Amino acid sequence: MDRDADVLVVGAGAAGIIAAWRAASIGARTILVEKTNRLGTKILISGGGKCNITHDGPLEDVLRAFRPNEARFIRPACYRFTNRQIVEMLTDRGLEVYTREDGRIFPVHQTAKDVVAILRSYLHDIGVDIRFDTAVNGLIVRNGKVDGIHTSMGDLRAPTVIVATGGSSYPNSGTTGDGWVWARSVGHTITKVRAALAPIYMENADPERSGVALRDVLLKARAGTKEIARWRGDLLFTHRGISGPTALGISRIVTEHLESGAVSLEVDLAPDRSFEGLSEVVKAWCADNPKKQVASLVEQFVPKSLVKEVIEATQEKLDQTVPNFGQRGKNRLVEVLKGWPLGMVRTVPLEKGECVAGGISLDEVDPKSMKSKRIEGLFLCGEVLDVAGPVGGYNLQSAFATGFVAGDSAAHEVLI
Ligand SMILES: Cc1cc2nc3c(=O)[nH]c(=O)nc-3n(C[C@H](O)[C@H](O)[C@H](O)COP(=O)(O)OP(=O)(O)OC[C@H]3O[C@@H](n4cnc5c(N)ncnc54)[C@H](O)[C@@H]3O)c2cc1C
Repeated sequence: MDRDADVLVVGAGAAGIIAAWRAASIGARTILVEKTNRLGTKILISGGGKCNITHDGPLEDVLRAFRPNEARFIRPACYRFTNRQIVEMLTDRGLEVYTREDGRIFPVHQTAKDVVAILRSYLHDIGVDIRFDTAVNGLIVRNGKVDGIHTSMGDLRAPTVIVATGGSSYPNSGTTGDGWVWARSVGHTITKVRAALAPIYMENADPERSGVALRDVLLKARAGTKEIARWRGDLLFTHRGISGPTALGISRIVTEHLESGAVSLEVDLAPDRSFEGLSEVVKAWCADNPKKQVASLVEQFVPKSLVKEVIEATQEKLDQTVPNFGQRGKNRLVEVLKGWPLGMVRTVPLEKGECVAGGISLDEVDPKSMKSKRIEGLFLCGEVLDVAGPVGGYNLQSAFATGFVAGDSAAHEVLI
């Protein structure tokens, strides 16, 4: 029977692009099918349009950022297509990159567009046939083996299909969880899909705080009195709650705990100081500033617009002066600065996340080849799998690496 291609890749995101490029590089006739009219939509919006391409450092350190079972799964792929390799691929074609102190790698000129343009040039040069505006509706399976895909533009036949349809956050970017439906239909288990790297909506969100940022604080989540998560960094108040690296950092654990009970948040506004150390700072400041209001001290820890709320949390008067600020007030202020309560979490919106946790069960995919253990000819890569790393370039690295292995294995399977 006539085949349209050796390898069909569904989804032109980070994983699908690298999978298609790798398969075609080995000599496989490759078609990349994308439902939207764009290549790498999520790469374009990644890192706020700046694209945090990957994370620098030894691979074992990179892998340590993932949950252990997820790290175990992506380890072979990350060693086959490393953080250095994706950077080299881009810099070989003129992209200049820099590494931030925290290990995150970005293009120097701060634009994800350059990254996508270079990836497009690789696909073009190697002859990948890209079909935009073509939505895939399902897999064609014959005698327990993949035989192609149904698309909005008709069926396409090939002995291997790579599903790289991503997760289900930011559905407007094209990712609506389609790959999970097809995977389930051929016997795969889809582990519960949850928000990850998402903002957190609060019960008592105050829209007036929106846009206010706290720099380098420690955000903590509690279920009852038990601390369940903490993340240090910046925190941004939004209309509905909080965002920024700290909120994204704890969002996955918060989501998991919300399923069984309430979660509250608090912020340590002086994370480098112990209670005792901070008590000394407060004491010394009061001694040095006998004529000032306590508000001036609080201003050293939070932006002006939040001073009133912090003082209210200490149950002191807003215009409290130092001479009237007793030991009880000082102790209470230290307590609030070390754990300013933000209130109860309402929800963590899955669709607003940078990625989702959950997806195709890792037990059912061979980590060395990204081959389905359920059905012949099917390969799976990227966020469609049950892998979700933290903020820092980890998710693109995982998508690039698993995409590379899927493309390599699919092509070898056909060409051998
Ligand atoms: C706002 C935002 C910022 C981010 N910033 C970063 C960052 O800086 N660094 C980082 O490492 N990660 C970042 N991420 C996460 C990262 O972008 C994703 O984890 C990664 O892009 C996943 O790659 P993927 O190829 O698996 O899926 P995707 O990039 O989501 O690609 C899937 C593709 O499949 C297509 N598709 C879906 N269904 C069909 C269908 N039925 N038929 C045809 N095509 C289909 C979609 O249109 C899409 O193009 C960010 C994510 C978001 C949303």
